[in-house]
Order: sequence, then C-alpha cells, then structure tokens
Amino acid sequence: MIAIYPGSFDPITLGHVDIITRGSRLFERVIVLVSSNPNKVPMFSTSQRINQIEKSVGHLGNVEIDQYDGLTITYARQRHARVLLRGLRVLSDFEKELQMAHTNKTLADDIETLFLSTSTEYGFLSSSLVKEIARFGGPIDHLVPHHVARDVCQCYAQTQPTPMPNSAAPAPRPMDCQ
Ligand code: ADP
Repeated sequence: MIAIYPGSFDPITLGHVDIITRGSRLFERVIVLVSSNPNKVPMFSTSQRINQIEKSVGHLGNVEIDQYDGLTITYARQRHARVLLRGLRVLSDFEKELQMAHTNKTLADDIETLFLSTSTEYGFLSSSLVKEIARFGGPIDHLVPHHVARDVCQCYAQTQPTPMPNSAAPAPRPMDCQ
C-alpha cells in the first residue's frame, strides 16, 4: 500500500523525519509530497525543500519525494495511493487535521487519512519554531538534520543585519533564501 505524506516541510524537522521513518515501516512506499501552503510564505523554494528532504531520508529505500501544487487527493489518485499520512502533535493540530481529513473524505471516499502520533520527544517541534529560534541566533541542531540547520542559519546570516538594541529582528523576506 502506498501512502502520501503531504506537507510544506519548510524546512523538514526531526519530527517529520520521525513520521517518515515510522511510515516507511508500515507501508510499501511512502511518497513525501512537498506542496505550497497558501497560508504560509515559504523560507525555502520547493526545490531546496526537496533537496533537504532527500538528504534527510534518502537512505530509506521505499521513500520517494515529489512536489505537487494541486489537491492532494488528485495526486494520490494519480499515484494509486490509498492513504494520506499525517502527524499529530497537540490538541490544536487535531481540530485542523480532522477538518482536512473530513474534507478530503468528501472529495475522495476511497482514500483514508491515517494519523501517526508524534514521538514524545518531538511533540513541541514545528518548522516555525525552528525558524523562530534561528532568527534570534539560538541553536537548532537538536531539532533538524545538520545540513538543514546549516541552511537555515546561512539564510538568516545572509538576510539579517545585526539588530539594533530593543528592535525586533526582521524575518527574512520570502525568496531571500531561495
Ligand atoms: P502543513 O503546512 O501541511 O501543516 P507541515 O510541514 O507543517 O505541513 O507538516 C506536515 C505534517 O507533519 C502535518 O501533518 C503535521 O502535523 C506533521 N508534523 C509536523 N511536525 C511534526 C512533529 N514534530 N511530530 C509529528 N508530526 C509532525
């Protein structure tokens, strides 16, 4: 059975890697699908994110990485996938994820959304949190693969002048790191 793991992965974190690794033990094939979230402005381009994911999970023989900007269920149908894999961390994820799962069910009754609960050590972890820490110069090596930590830190180093005391550091503008 093929499972699609869709997300923005901007950037991939150890929480994502954990879900992909565990999913790869459950399904014949896991396709990590990088898609644009219309509500989020990405830090990294799609090809950069694909590259980061490849370096992070490329050693898993049954994991494939692809991109698609249409409906996930359309892509799933094209690939004959019956499962959409998603991760659940906290209660606030549940509401959003359940709404999406129900919506997808109205669009494709034959495709099921399956949730893996986060491993306890990654329950707090999100891509946004990683960016927030890095933006203020904090360490992120324990949260993302090393090559991703390097990309994120380089991005902030390139785009961010030393902030004036008492002024908020500006976030990198979209495309600055792409
Ligand atoms: P999206 O913008 O579609 O939510 P994300 O890249 O933020 O994409 O997340 C993709 C999926 O991975 C979502 O199902 C999300 O809940 C899950 N996820 C993100 N971080 C973690 C984590 N630390 N542990 C488990 N699942 C996670």
